Amino acid sequence: VSRFDVVVVGSGVAGLSIAQRLAESSLEVALITKATVSDSTTTWAQGGVAAVMGNDEDSIDLHVADTLRAGAGLCDIEAVQVLIEEGPRRVAELIELGASFDRNDEGRLALAREGGHSHARVLHAGGAATGVEVQRTLVDALFQSSATVLEHHLATSLRVGANGIEGLSALTRGGELREITAEHVVLASGGAGQLFEVTTNPPEATGDGVALALRAGVPVADVEFMQFHPTALHAAISPRPLLSEALRGHGALLRDGAGDRFVDELAPRDVVARAMAKVMAEQGLDHLWLDATSLERFAERFPSLEARLREAGLDASEAWIPVAPAAHHWAGGVMTDLVGSTMLEGLWAAGEVANSGVHGANRLASNSLLEGLVFGARVAEALLQGGRGPSATGLLRALVAPRSGGIPAVSAQCRDAAREGAEALRETQGMGTLERRSLLQATMTRHAGVVRSAEGLERAAAIVGGLAAQLGQAARSFGEAELGNLALGASALLCSAAQREESRGSHVRADFPEPSVAWERRIVHQREEGVGP
Ligand SMILES: Cc1cc2nc3c(=O)[nH]c(=O)nc-3n(C[C@H](O)[C@H](O)[C@H](O)COP(=O)(O)OP(=O)(O)OC[C@H]3O[C@@H](n4cnc5c(N)ncnc54)[C@H](O)[C@@H]3O)c2cc1C
Repeated sequence: VSRFDVVVVGSGVAGLSIAQRLAESSLEVALITKATVSDSTTTWAQGGVAAVMGNDEDSIDLHVADTLRAGAGLCDIEAVQVLIEEGPRRVAELIELGASFDRNDEGRLALAREGGHSHARVLHAGGAATGVEVQRTLVDALFQSSATVLEHHLATSLRVGANGIEGLSALTRGGELREITAEHVVLASGGAGQLFEVTTNPPEATGDGVALALRAGVPVADVEFMQFHPTALHAAISPRPLLSEALRGHGALLRDGAGDRFVDELAPRDVVARAMAKVMAEQGLDHLWLDATSLERFAERFPSLEARLREAGLDASEAWIPVAPAAHHWAGGVMTDLVGSTMLEGLWAAGEVANSGVHGANRLASNSLLEGLVFGARVAEALLQGGRGPSATGLLRALVAPRSGGIPAVSAQCRDAAREGAEALRETQGMGTLERRSLLQATMTRHAGVVRSAEGLERAAAIVGGLAAQLGQAARSFGEAELGNLALGASALLCSAAQREESRGSHVRADFPEPSVAWERRIVHQREEGVGP
């Protein structure tokens, strides 16, 4: 058994910033991560970090307004204010740590404008390689700190006692189960794009943090809101390379099967993805095309994209690029207050695994690296000040002091899909872990993707429920642990998506195409400990 004051789970922007800040104190800090410390979704981030950093016409209020608009009525306003007000200071600290963002000829930060933003406020590095620079900077800082780093350790369960968190269990790549004792555990384990067959997320993004929280009885909300990025390269590559919004910002056009345009290319992501899904269904296609042939100096301006396309045998200056919407960012997650505390004492969450309330029903482009920086710093500060346990702020207002305002919460009403599914899935008995993971992903892409319906969601719930019912209790490998987590995350997503009989933000129902005032509330999952998959 190893013993630490704090264990941080995950080495993306959120986990790295927390561990590095805490390690400057006298606390014994460990960061565990399931691949290498450089593997994360953060590394893949392209477009940049949104923060009001000097454009005179821009303001905090405008960035707040853009974020609330994208969130389609479900953001927590206080959380959004925290994000946007504290963002510039956290970005400045990252620059002080050594991050090098692109600058214009006068040496000022070069700011880009992205979909949904009313002003140019997105800092970027290496053109469209922002994540690599953010990850490099924070990994360097971590290795200069006193934190213990445990790579190839996958957190499999939280240990909870009468006074909250007591530690966690982690599986090593070699199959050994390690018990780690800690007064605090911080979930910074990222999103769950791997719930879907078509995703921009790396293989580690399996929603482990949400599954750990659910199994420990910790509330999770907004899981129906998976944002689909409209323009991922349609090729047999996983994860699907993203063709950044910046391309459309510079004039690239979307074309259908007949070569015609069908949508305003600069509309918000959900609008573009929805228009693409509609055209694909009407024309019986599994992808459409992005025409970047008119963009000048493509290779010079987008070197990393040009390289990915070349690897796939494509030349954007010559031919249209095949694209399709791909699962990209999970707005939902473990509910937190304004300093990242969850409902369980000693358990914190930050970054994409958390639901701090900043994204609502749809994330504004380039706000998620910012979320990791801002709420990561808040978790570290609260922890250093001796915090342990939830306050009635942010999303937890709805649970700690339900009458104190904010968006009301309703609990998820899930059918026991596992029972029906187990029947339907007898034929999958002999399938291996990888085959089952593929079946789950294909099912989710088919039935719970950009456009959903009651019928499809029910079908998917039966298949996923069946898969979940067949899983053993204790995972003996990374693959088994991840499959169990995917099944749990998928079940929660399908349950909320079926319950939410409306279209809002990134959740679109063909059978309920309009938003409904009755659904201006968030759906919360809280399981009894030890029940279900
Ligand atoms: C292609 C792409 C482009 C993007 N572009 C942008 C952009 O331009 N701007 C922007 O703001 N956002 C962007 N995003 C979203 C953004 O990258 C993520 O939301 C953000 O990086 C998440 O950071 P995080 O620290 O929360 O998690 P991650 O960076 O995903 O890190 C999670 C870490 O946890 C580890 N982990 C997971 N489960 C476990 C476990 N059970 N045990 C131990 N370790 C575990 C993982 O290995 C990983 O190290 C993009 C996403 C993608 C996929």
